[in-house]
Amino acid sequence: GGGGGGGTEDCCVKVAVHVRPLIGDERAQGCKDCVTVISGKPQVQIGTHSFTFDHVYGSTGTPSSAMFEECIAPLVDGLFQGYNATVLAYGQTGSGKTYTMGTGFKDGYQAGIIPQVMNVLFSKIENLKHQTEFQLHVSFIEILKEEVRDLLDPTALNKSDTANGNTGKVSLPGKPPIQIRESSNGVITLAGSTEVSVSTLKEMSACLEQGSLSRATGSTNMNNQSSRSHAIFTITLEQMRKLNPVFHGDGNGSESMNEEYLCAKLHLVDLAGSERAKRTGSDGLRFKEGVHINKGLLALGNVISALGDEKKRKEGVHVPYRDSKLTRLLQDSLGGNSRTVMIACISPADINAEETLNTIKYANRAR
Ligand code: ADP
Ligand code: MG
Repeated sequence: GGGGGGGTEDCCVKVAVHVRPLIGDERAQGCKDCVTVISGKPQVQIGTHSFTFDHVYGSTGTPSSAMFEECIAPLVDGLFQGYNATVLAYGQTGSGKTYTMGTGFKDGYQAGIIPQVMNVLFSKIENLKHQTEFQLHVSFIEILKEEVRDLLDPTALNKSDTANGNTGKVSLPGKPPIQIRESSNGVITLAGSTEVSVSTLKEMSACLEQGSLSRATGSTNMNNQSSRSHAIFTITLEQMRKLNPVFHGDGNGSESMNEEYLCAKLHLVDLAGSERAKRTGSDGLRFKEGVHINKGLLALGNVISALGDEKKRKEGVHVPYRDSKLTRLLQDSLGGNSRTVMIACISPADINAEETLNTIKYANRAR
C-alpha cells in the first residue's frame, strides 16, 4: 500500500509483527540478530529494508501484555457486542506462532493469546451475568491438505501404536468428513465437528489442551505435519441480554421482558508454516521454488489483500473466499463487520533472514 491517508482505524485488518528472541539453537549455531525494532515506532528493519505496521513487538522493551491489550482485548470486547473476529498467527516454522497463540503447553504458554483470551472472557462474563445469560461453545479443528480434522473428536482413539509406526488419532470407520456450510444469512458452520459446551475456564482450558495434544500426537510420525496444517480454535459466545422492562400502558401494569440475543465467534488460528518448499520431496520430485504449497496461505493472502484495499472494496471487487477451506471457514469472520488481526511472527536470526523477509512482505501486503 502507498501509505497515504492512513485509514487504519476503520480498516478491518490490523497487522502486528512479533519478533521473538534468539533461541538456544540459534545461539549455539552462532547466529546473529539481523532484525531491529525501531523504538517508539511500529517499525522493523531487516538489513537495509524498513517496514511499518500497525504494531511491532520486539523481544525487549515492550511487556508481553502490550500485544494482548492493543491487539486482542478489543476483539474480545467486540465479541460481547456481537462482532465476529479472527486472530491469525503467520510465519515460518519455528518463528513463534504456537508460542504466541499459547497452544504449546510449554513453559510460559499461559502468556499466549488463547489462555489470556479465556481469562478475560470469563472475568467479563462474571461481571455481566446478573443481566445477561451466556452460552459458550468451543471447537478445535485442523486443516491439513484441504481436509478438516476434528481435534476434539471424542470417538477418536488416541492410540500410540508405535509398533506399526502408526501414531495418532484413529477415527471410527464410517464417520463422514467434516463439511463447511453456509446458511442463507451467510453464517458459516462446520457440520460434523465437535462443539463442546463449556461453562467454566477450566472446561475451556481442557479443550485447548486436549486439541493441542491431539494435534501434536497426530504429527509425531508424519513428517511434522503440524507445521503444514492450520489449527483453528473457535470460541462461540451466545448472549441473551435482559433489557429494561417495557411497561404496557394498558392499566394492568403488565410488563414484558425485552430480550436481545447476540451470537458471535472468535477464531484463533495457528497457521501452517509459511516457508516455501525447496527441498526434494520423498517422491524425488522437486517442488517449484517460490510457489506456495499451501493453498490456505495463498488464498488467505489474496482475501486479506482484497479486504485491505479500500479502492478495490468500493469497486466491489470479488473476495476469493472460496479458493481454500481456510478462507471458506473464516469467511463470516474476515471482512464485513468483523475484526481481524494478523500477527506476523519472525525469528531474528540471520540464517532465517530470507524467510523473515518473505513473512514481512506477506504481512505488508495485508495492510
Ligand atoms: P512455530 O509454532 O512458529 O513453529 P514455536 O512457537 O514452536 O514456533 O517456537 C519455536 C521455538 O521458539 C520454541 O522453542 C519456543 O518456545 C521459542 N519461542 C517462540 N517465541 C518465543 C518468545 N517470544 N520468547 C521466547 N521463546 C520463544
Ligand atoms: Mg507451531
